[in-house]
Amino acid sequence: MASEEKKLSTRLIHTGDWQDYKKFQGYHSAPESLPIYLTSVFAFDDVPSVDQIYDGEAEGYIYTRIRHPNTDAVGGILAAAEEGEDGLVFSSGMSAIVLSILSVVSEGDHIVSSPVLYGGVHDFLTNELKRFGVEVTFVDFINGDVEGAIRPNTKLLYTETICNPLLEVPEIGKISGIAKKHGCYFFIDNTFATSVIVKPLVLGADLVLYSATKYLGGHSDLVAGAAVGGKELIALIRKKIVLYGSILSPAEAWLLARSLRTLELRVRKHSENALKVAEYLEAHPKIEKVYYPGLASSPDHERAKAQFTKGLFGGMMSVDLKGGEKEASTVIASMPSIKFVPSLAGYATTVSYSAKTSHRFYSPEELEAAGITFGQLRLSIGLEDAEDIISEIGSALERI
Ligand SMILES: *Cc1c(COP(=O)(O)O)cnc(C)c1O
Repeated sequence: MASEEKKLSTRLIHTGDWQDYKKFQGYHSAPESLPIYLTSVFAFDDVPSVDQIYDGEAEGYIYTRIRHPNTDAVGGILAAAEEGEDGLVFSSGMSAIVLSILSVVSEGDHIVSSPVLYGGVHDFLTNELKRFGVEVTFVDFINGDVEGAIRPNTKLLYTETICNPLLEVPEIGKISGIAKKHGCYFFIDNTFATSVIVKPLVLGADLVLYSATKYLGGHSDLVAGAAVGGKELIALIRKKIVLYGSILSPAEAWLLARSLRTLELRVRKHSENALKVAEYLEAHPKIEKVYYPGLASSPDHERAKAQFTKGLFGGMMSVDLKGGEKEASTVIASMPSIKFVPSLAGYATTVSYSAKTSHRFYSPEELEAAGITFGQLRLSIGLEDAEDIISEIGSALERI
């Protein structure tokens, strides 16, 4: 604490810092919400404390790039939500996915992945991992022979729960079984579904990955990633976060923790609204096809029903308009409150255009293989009143 005799600059520096507030620990009340620990570093009590903290004999934080109270708090909430042992948060979904994969593969290893993936992950698997001598085989995880693609050096099976952007749903339990039989890890990106709809760890996956930028954050105001799994695997990945400097900042971790309090309410409403919109669009004369696992006509419906929380299929859908780029462009321009954004899963309904955004760098052959066309829009159904969403989309469709 600064004493009266110290000069102004010294008093400004040393009055009211956390050391003063250690006295709070003896108080009989505490903040209802976890404070944001905006500090880059933690001050040790003394030299013996340094030894004890580094050696794991005493509790204590060291440096915010390593871990801090806000990431620990949100990691704990996520682990509880997924029924996993431990959870981590990262500076983005991409860093969560890339660092988790890099934690388990080395030069000479092999990965079997679904080809229908978030564009950035597809790019990482196809182009980046090659530089490190890791090979990837892409196989259809629904109709293809995943087991047949496994080699003696296969370390990892990788897919998404609801594949982006055609909303296909692989059978998690079956893939887990194949991974266990061959001693591979099975990682799954659960961004589109969330733990409200399905808990892949319970179905045998080793690691659940997230772009927390999407439903977990849910308010279009933060970029973050997450991984939840067993203690040992999480400890391995935590080392990579420290090494590559990919931890989430305290303020964003706090925002993410706040968002998670309402995850269940939000994902339920997103799903209920999306089912109504999908049913409306399926019957619409200007629509060629609707991709939504909640529709009874979807080839993924039975698999989704068997794994998902009853009646919930998420807020994401894709639609093929009768037409191509011109029609897609007209519809996008004719929806005043449904914004055109290259992302998804915020509270508001938004539209995106995979061929021009998330999958922009796919070759024409890759686009075709992934079933992505220039007449295809992806809708992220928000928390507005379903009738208002339907009426806005309906008016836009009248323009084509
Ligand atoms: C957005 C997204 C990612 C990438 O996450 P960022 O937070 O943008 O880094 C990964 N997977 C899926 C399914 C996504 O939608």
